Amino acid sequence: MPDTVLVLNSGSSSLKYSVVQLDSGATVADGIVERIGDDPKVPDHRAALDVVHEALAGDGHRLDELGLVGVGHRVVHGGPDLYRPTVIDDDTIERLKRLSPLAPLHNPPALLGIEVARAALPDLPHVAVFDTAFFHDLPPEAATYAIDNEVAEEWHIRRYGFHGTSHQYVSEQAAAYLDVPLASLRQIVLHLGNGASASAIVGGRPVGTSMGLTPMEGLVMGTRSGDIDAGIVMYLWREAGMSVEDIETMLNRRSGVRGLGGEIDFRELHRRIDAGDADARLAYDVYIHRLRKYIGAYLAVLGGADVITFTAGVGENDALVRRDALSGLTAFGIEIDEHLNESPSRAARRISAAGAATTVLVVPTDEELAIARACADVLGGVGGDG
Ligand code: ADP
Repeated sequence: MPDTVLVLNSGSSSLKYSVVQLDSGATVADGIVERIGDDPKVPDHRAALDVVHEALAGDGHRLDELGLVGVGHRVVHGGPDLYRPTVIDDDTIERLKRLSPLAPLHNPPALLGIEVARAALPDLPHVAVFDTAFFHDLPPEAATYAIDNEVAEEWHIRRYGFHGTSHQYVSEQAAAYLDVPLASLRQIVLHLGNGASASAIVGGRPVGTSMGLTPMEGLVMGTRSGDIDAGIVMYLWREAGMSVEDIETMLNRRSGVRGLGGEIDFRELHRRIDAGDADARLAYDVYIHRLRKYIGAYLAVLGGADVITFTAGVGENDALVRRDALSGLTAFGIEIDEHLNESPSRAARRISAAGAATTVLVVPTDEELAIARACADVLGGVGGDG
């Protein structure tokens, strides 16, 4: 059996798993355990991992026969110091625990996932792969918030950026698809899933990202607000009597496209717009407006883009979002070919008009493969014939 990595992405109520073959990049098995804590059959993450075992067994896979060389864990926030893929030991766990206040919604469930997986698979190395890694070397002018620098330093406040695994993978895939050196390209990557972020990349290095200290900043998302005036938080706290937790929950879970249009899934949002729903229309318009603002900002940061790439659930599938994000930009060398844009495909593809100065691509992201490869790299490469 060729070498594989088990990739785990542990959220507060879900555990996504994927067994990835390193040589071919093929997915041997994958799935998601949902409603952890809600479903009496899956009371906690320990039980969720048992469900993963059972699901693999049900598909005819035994963990000890899968050729596993390690377990790769997606960790959202690595704070100021943890960013390279890191083999997890007790010290790493302690450091991750200390980081939890920086990512109160994301890191605690990831830690739970790591702890139960280490207990269940003690003979395999476990590796943390951070969503913040790719953006660690953002230039200072892009990473720094213009706030009191002593406060920022004491509290490690900077732009960390997230979805880094995806932005890096997709920007590399774009260069490979175009068969040009990564070093030669100025790129804008638009990762539009339930979470959404934009990045500007020069020669494979990030020079801008829309997400910040937390994954809340930037684009309008499925349930998150993206950019807001920080004054809104103080105002609600002071005048509306909302607690910090209430405000955090509202901004993370009841805002964005759902907060405005009552819907998180773009297919349903389009249906409602077609039926004349004004809230859905406004949600979509605000989403597109913000997206265009970031595209414009990054065109200026880059001095023009060679490639603009759409990825993740909305970016890969929603031709209307792609069309509306880039309409009317021919003066900037950006023009989509309607026919190419509307042809559905699961493969990487060009959708820009022939002769347009900026190439527009759709590239499927594969964070699991990227995590598996990062994990294998830190473990010293793919070992022998396994
Ligand atoms: P996550 O951020 O949870 O990984 P994904 O990248 O899988 O999310 O994106 C999920 C979102 O993609 C869905 O909520 C939905 O809005 C959108 N989506 C998926 N398929 C389609 C489609 N065919 N058309 C439009 N939007 C889609």
